[in-house]
Amino acid sequence: MTTVLTGETFESFNPATGEAVGTYPVHTAEQVEAAVAKAREAAAWWDSLGFAGRAERLAAWRSALAKRMPELGRIITEETGKPAGDAQLELVLAIEHLAWAAKHARKVLGPQRRSPGLLLSNQAASVEYQPLGVVGVIGPWNYPVYTPLGSVSYALAAGNAVVFKPSEFTPGVGKWLVESFAEAVPEHPVLQLVTGLGDTGAALTKAGVDKIAFTGSAATGKKVMASAAETLTPVVIEAGGKDPLLVDADADLDAAADATAWGAFSNAGQTCAGVERVYVHERVYDEFVAKVVAKAEDVDAGEQYGPMTMPAQLDIVRRHIEDALAAGGRALVGGAGAVGDRYVKPTVLVDVPEDCSAVREETFGPTVTIARVADMDEAIDKANDSAYGLGSTVFSKARGMELARRLRTGQTAINAPLSFAGIASLPFGGRGESGFGRIHGPEGLREFARPKAIARQRFTAPIALTSFARSKKTEAIVGRLIAKLHGKG
Ligand code: NDP
Repeated sequence: MTTVLTGETFESFNPATGEAVGTYPVHTAEQVEAAVAKAREAAAWWDSLGFAGRAERLAAWRSALAKRMPELGRIITEETGKPAGDAQLELVLAIEHLAWAAKHARKVLGPQRRSPGLLLSNQAASVEYQPLGVVGVIGPWNYPVYTPLGSVSYALAAGNAVVFKPSEFTPGVGKWLVESFAEAVPEHPVLQLVTGLGDTGAALTKAGVDKIAFTGSAATGKKVMASAAETLTPVVIEAGGKDPLLVDADADLDAAADATAWGAFSNAGQTCAGVERVYVHERVYDEFVAKVVAKAEDVDAGEQYGPMTMPAQLDIVRRHIEDALAAGGRALVGGAGAVGDRYVKPTVLVDVPEDCSAVREETFGPTVTIARVADMDEAIDKANDSAYGLGSTVFSKARGMELARRLRTGQTAINAPLSFAGIASLPFGGRGESGFGRIHGPEGLREFARPKAIARQRFTAPIALTSFARSKKTEAIVGRLIAKLHGKG
């Protein structure tokens, strides 16, 4: 049930059964370039609609998505194996983000006045954010709607056309999204689909788009950036994470254990900002671990989450568990035997040395390591000792904000799991190996726009600074003025 190339097509599979569920074209570099050329024409039309015209059409698409959630949910389940409830959850969040982006685009990107300053007070200064043109979106398979739409919705709302390359594991979801958009916006191909494997994604990075929005592994992100560098094409990279969760001595331990179980095991752990490491204050360690173990034992792989969507991931998860056990770690739930042919049962690991792959590398499976710390300073040091820096979570009654600020990650949730991902007004993105740039929120809209600064002269300045007519007297006045204004202290 791995991807099969049959000449010019490939098949997608249901990872729960191994059954083929669709055949899609492998688009060549020429076809990708043709799509980008078509997108360029569509972009001019889309831009000409203005914020109101685009908002109206994005509302029509949003309405279709909301009405047809069960239909799209079935395709998500078919291609990823995730339960219907989880498919609906990602759709709900994606629709919220689409609504926010369309509603706020004008306010965030429209013309804004800026102060011209004293010396140039004869000018009217303003900035407005213009669309980039054509954005290439390369998406992953773990949240095949929510994740790519985090870029697609914001890029469209900002006035760009988009060429979307979904993961080879979820082409059917990508096709449905693009076809439903075309029904809502039939005039021009503002959102297009190209399908294929890594080569098709690579072709998109070289096809002359104005920006690439990539979500996937850090390793592929580096290849995408290197390829885009050849044409100075800017990129936003949303790569993986090794997200920590901190439990302070005063935390609500039931809530923290529940968040750990959900953050680590939901979606079979295939969440870029899922919980992979937990650091717990020693005063509450034993009680907290007992609660997580009880919850993990209750989670039913197959009922509450699906199989590993990408079969190759099974070997990575097994290796991380085996490394941890070989280095003296203990599995309180699950273990190496938890990794089956398609499904992985929840695995809770303790006493794992910090240099193990299970603590350092992205596992992307339903496993979690829990470590005891003397205090929250040690928790912060260990949490921050990572090449990644995507998300993090803190459970603390008194010190949530303080600890959140000290965590070197793009976003932190306090006393709830992954809450930042559902708040459309908050930017989302990473640092280090987790990538850079932001999707979602005002920052996500601006990521797909180009600031245009305009200075308009309102009247001739009494003091001409930028003219050969500038006199020695003017220079002396300006010199004295600036010394007086800025020279104090
Ligand atoms: P990849 O990073 O390999 O793939 C992500 C996307 O990039 C897919 O659409 C893929 O296409 C495409 N792609 C692959 N090679 C290239 C290339 N050279 N140029 C441009 N695009 C390319 O991730 P995988 O799906 O293989 O998953 C591997 C690991 O990535 C996982 O184990 C997990 O750790 C991490 N991951 C992180 C995600 C996140 O949300 N941060 C999401 C998914 C994975 P195709 O699928 O057709 O190869």
